[in-house]
Amino acid sequence: MTIPEREWKEALAAISEAPRIALACHLGPDGDALGSLLALTIAFNKAGHETVASWGSEPFEVPPHYTYLPRLELLSPPSSFPAAPELMITFDAGSMERLGSLEPNARAAHKLIVIDHHVSNDHFGTINLIDGEAAASAVIVFELLKRMSVPLGKDIATCLYTGIVTDTGRFQYKNTTPEVHRITAELLAAGAPHVEITQTIYNTHPVGYLRLAAAALEKLQVREDAGMVWTWVTTEDLERAKVGLEDIEALIDLVRTADIADVAVVLKQQSDGRYRVSMRSKGAADVGAVATRFGGGGHALAAGFTSVDGDPRATIEEIATALLGA
Ligand code: 5GP
Ligand code: MN
Repeated sequence: MTIPEREWKEALAAISEAPRIALACHLGPDGDALGSLLALTIAFNKAGHETVASWGSEPFEVPPHYTYLPRLELLSPPSSFPAAPELMITFDAGSMERLGSLEPNARAAHKLIVIDHHVSNDHFGTINLIDGEAAASAVIVFELLKRMSVPLGKDIATCLYTGIVTDTGRFQYKNTTPEVHRITAELLAAGAPHVEITQTIYNTHPVGYLRLAAAALEKLQVREDAGMVWTWVTTEDLERAKVGLEDIEALIDLVRTADIADVAVVLKQQSDGRYRVSMRSKGAADVGAVATRFGGGGHALAAGFTSVDGDPRATIEEIATALLGA
């Protein structure tokens, strides 16, 4: 862990002094953001703190793959968030902007604890529990709970397992260290229902998603000079398949298996016409650096941004240029 002792001490002191704690993860939350947020919210509630837990994107809905998570009643829409929290904690957000509509609340917070594992994190908290080498934000939450002497129950274990299994790609990525397995062993021992979790996240899709994925793979494009494969999904494709953007997160995992390419890109059109761009690398290219150039961010092997261009081909040209120039 590269988090200085001083930061841990300050975090523990700030938490123990706070009667009311406001917690927020990044907008459009994934398994790590949600799992980390809920784990600590559950622990605080047990310890008698009043909490408000949310994220700054609308519509405020738990993504369908994560509705098995426990204690969802502890979450509330961003409108219920205090304008200037006494103590606020953020999860898995690499920068203030990733908090979406809750960014002003974070700026106005008296004390702000940032829990994150993005190397690009600009340390925007007053207290920063940031470790760019941690496999997931959930790993840092696990360490914090240990330091708070909170015992792992089934609910907290379920949340933390969710964060770790999603951010390690089911224990496939390079960030899967011996430490990750040691933590995971404790989570399983505490009752994390791992079969149910992975069945729900990875092996359960609406039939519409399968048809949409087939169409997206059918029109897969190869950009050989940049070592890239890519495809795109329009709002029309989504409507035809009767699925939402939250249902097609796994598409990039199909595209990235192409043997001929290092980089995989999927562009997904939002309701405002712009494209959400998901990028993955097998190791040669740093897609986090590319995404950062276009106003997004992420990790070296998994990153994303929102394209200002309404034309996927133009965006792909810009990405190819960035990859070839890098
Ligand atoms: P995904 O392709 O699954 O949406 O995103 C992959 C990773 O890239 C996320 O875990 C997150 O770290 C990062 N990421 C995606 N979109 C953005 C963005 O718009 N801004 C930033 N800073 N990071 C992003
Ligand atoms: Mn994460």
